Amino acid sequence: MEAKYDISVVVPLFNEAESLPELHAWISRVMQANGFTYEIIFVNDGSTDESWQVIEELSQKNSEVHGIKFRRNYGKSPALFCGFKAAQGRVVITMDADLQDSPDEIPELYRMITEDGYDLVSGYKQKRYDPLSKTIPTKLFNATARKVSGINNLHDFNCGLKAYRCEVVKNIEVYGEMHRYIPYLAKNAGFSKIGEKVVQHQARKFGKTKFGGLNRFVNGYLDLLSLWFLNSFGLKPMHVFGFLGSLMFAIGFIACVIVGANKLYALASGTPAPLVTSSPYFYIALTMMILGTQLFVAGFLGELISRNAENRNNYQIEKEI
Ligand code: UDP
Ligand code: MG
Repeated sequence: MEAKYDISVVVPLFNEAESLPELHAWISRVMQANGFTYEIIFVNDGSTDESWQVIEELSQKNSEVHGIKFRRNYGKSPALFCGFKAAQGRVVITMDADLQDSPDEIPELYRMITEDGYDLVSGYKQKRYDPLSKTIPTKLFNATARKVSGINNLHDFNCGLKAYRCEVVKNIEVYGEMHRYIPYLAKNAGFSKIGEKVVQHQARKFGKTKFGGLNRFVNGYLDLLSLWFLNSFGLKPMHVFGFLGSLMFAIGFIACVIVGANKLYALASGTPAPLVTSSPYFYIALTMMILGTQLFVAGFLGELISRNAENRNNYQIEKEI
């Protein structure tokens, strides 16, 4: 694809009307000062305030402003997904709408992608202006994400300010609440040159955070687990479940044989032979065999499902000659 602009800025937003004019002016200032051709894609994620009117006004006066309006609130990931689909720039930069991310970072992010050859550069809010209740869990979250994803050089997976080579955003699918793990998605899609840049962070100027509450951590961890699982075994469920199932079944079976043999031996040699059901090993053996069978079946079902999946043969092909 021939890129139409140097940069596409994708801004997902939910009820951020007050911030938008200032954000637009700031981005434009930076772009013009650096001579970039650019577009700004505002993705209005079902805002209930004036956000869409503001975007309409901006786009009437400025040809570089594009807008996508969701009929209802779907979440930040779907908003990014649609922005990514629409983006036509050589480099795509995502940015929160709340003025917490600074457009002044754009030129250096652009340089890192185009000159240093990064596929993805994530912002790192080293000094954050968020309440402690947010920063401490975030540290934990990032440590786990680093371990699971194997991307050890990232401090801040969930920073809204990121830059991508265009191919990256066209080849990843950000769904559900997966925006927290975009670097991991990119890595799983084969884009491994992932870097980080320390960025300025500011306190929210207008409105309040859209991600309050504890359940974002619970959901965050569950998402991480599914990603990890999908990436490690998604294409070959039988390899995990089948292995575990067979192993458990075998142990259970051997234990059964031992329990049975004991009984027969006792009977044959005339020593007192208690009922097999009075031995705890009997129950352990039984449970192991049942669980083993179930795991095996789960693996087999998983295998059937993944064989029927529509995208089972979607591989990332970088080049063909
Ligand atoms: N956002 C969105 N859809 C939502 C929630 C948030 O598009 O359902 C946008 C929000 O408007 C902002 C960005 O995602 O531009 C980050 O949200 P926020 O600033 O509330 O998150 P925080 O900085 O507190 O983590
Ligand atoms: Mg914010």
